Amino acid sequence: MAATANPHKLAEIEAILGPAVELLARPDDLGEVVEDGDTLEANARLKATAVFIHTGRPAVADDTGLEVAALAGAPGVRSARYAGEDADDADNRVRLLAELEGTADRSACFRTVAVVVFPEGRELLVEGMTAGTIAEAPRGGKGFGYDPVFVPHGGDGRTFAEMSPEEKNAVSHRGKAFRALAAQLAL
Ligand code: IMP
Repeated sequence: MAATANPHKLAEIEAILGPAVELLARPDDLGEVVEDGDTLEANARLKATAVFIHTGRPAVADDTGLEVAALAGAPGVRSARYAGEDADDADNRVRLLAELEGTADRSACFRTVAVVVFPEGRELLVEGMTAGTIAEAPRGGKGFGYDPVFVPHGGDGRTFAEMSPEEKNAVSHRGKAFRALAAQLAL
């Protein structure tokens, strides 16, 4: 099955789905897929469909957003470009912490929607969510994206970036979505 070009995400998805599914990185020559959907679901479908059309193989794609209560659900579907079109992960974290400066309610959640598009036209859609809070300052060097500023509920106060990949996968939005996917694929 063909999937994401993001090596962090590919490793996470491989760890969750296990050896029953052979995951191929998204072909380089496909280039970037324009993620201009209004919802996580629309963007996941756009990416999976583009990969399927290019490869002819079943394709999986996921789209993830960080939804912050005090910011009315922002950055949400715009999480990757929160600090601007060319923003990197650090820029996005800086903007998020600046927006929340002095805000008492730091509750947030990560939401992942994953879509598999099959050659015969069938589609599978799953979702995973993890609730947590936004830390006052980044902590930890693991993971990617907003991991250094996200503290999942039910843990010991560490951010995702302070957890091992296994610990993160056990409670993460993507972990939940892809375990649901594995169950539906009857792996
Ligand atoms: P994407 O749609 O999955 O590519 O991700 C959208 C944005 O959310 C990007 O800025 C990612 O860095 C960020 N993101 C996605 N998944 C995670 C995660 O598991 N932890 C932290 N940030 C993430």
